[in-house]
Amino acid sequence: QKAKFASMRNIEPISIDGTRINLMINAGLRDDVSSITTTGADGIGLFRTEFQFLVSATLPRREQQIRFYRDVLDVAGNKPVIFRTIDVGGDKALPYLQNRGQDEENPAMGWRAVRLALDHGGLMKAQAQSLLEASPGKLLQVMFPMIAEPWEFDEAKQVFDDQLALLKKRGKQPPSKIRYGVMLEVPALADMLDILLPKVDFISIGTNDLTQFLFAADRAHPRLAERYDWLSLAIMRFLNRVVKECIAHDVDVSICGEMGGRRLEALALLGIGVRKLSITPAAIGSIKSLVISTDIPKIEAKMQELLKSPCPNLRPELEKWAEEHGV
Ligand code: PEP
Ligand code: MG
Repeated sequence: QKAKFASMRNIEPISIDGTRINLMINAGLRDDVSSITTTGADGIGLFRTEFQFLVSATLPRREQQIRFYRDVLDVAGNKPVIFRTIDVGGDKALPYLQNRGQDEENPAMGWRAVRLALDHGGLMKAQAQSLLEASPGKLLQVMFPMIAEPWEFDEAKQVFDDQLALLKKRGKQPPSKIRYGVMLEVPALADMLDILLPKVDFISIGTNDLTQFLFAADRAHPRLAERYDWLSLAIMRFLNRVVKECIAHDVDVSICGEMGGRRLEALALLGIGVRKLSITPAAIGSIKSLVISTDIPKIEAKMQELLKSPCPNLRPELEKWAEEHGV
């Protein structure tokens, strides 16, 4: 099976009806970046920049950050990379940051990600400066994690705007273009899309955190691992609403949580209009094979029917459908 998927590296993910699906990888370490080549992925849809901070004993200096981001962009070549700003705090504690997260009762819902980075102003500023300096004349794509309200996006983007102005003032070459996006992983943001969408270039749905918040169920709790399903009606209805709203506003939408790397989940996502997935590199072959054997209008019709049904979990129906349709 593995060899079969590896041999698909050069095959494009085009569905039976001719839809080109964008398949990207999630990455975080320098070595992950070469998986773009080995898998034939379209780029990096989620680059977890906090990995560099987590593997370091001290706060990475600006020069180190610049070198690292430059390397990533060099290895990625002409394939796009979306850098997610630092998502530490909570359970991903950084001892050298005097992280209050260690004392938190609910670290996943605590002082983490963009909340911490904005309060710790220097952190966001240094990262913005580094990302901007690492991309002279290139496309820079940035997204912010754990945005709960549109104003948090404004605040984070303002840091980049300020740093961009400074960079230009110093006579340094800016990126050729900057695209700003938001991770939708806090449910409250889904009710603010009419306000948020006109501000952003793209949305990436982080289904790992989103699911834990929708079900109020710790994503790492072994006793809860089997209890709630990504193919539950609640999740799929929620995602369907968000995806449709993004499409209606003409805003690029993708999924970057782990669910996109699983076949039935990916099938369901294609059925609600998702055309971009960022997944673990090991799943690219499997999802590519799923895409090329799927007739999208047919799964869209099936999903419309399932989303209206009172069936609490779509998995059994989707399994049956996949088998009947040779997916
Ligand atoms: C997510 O929450 O779905 C996500 C992709 O980000 P992370 O797993 O790094 O929290
Ligand atoms: Mg997350």
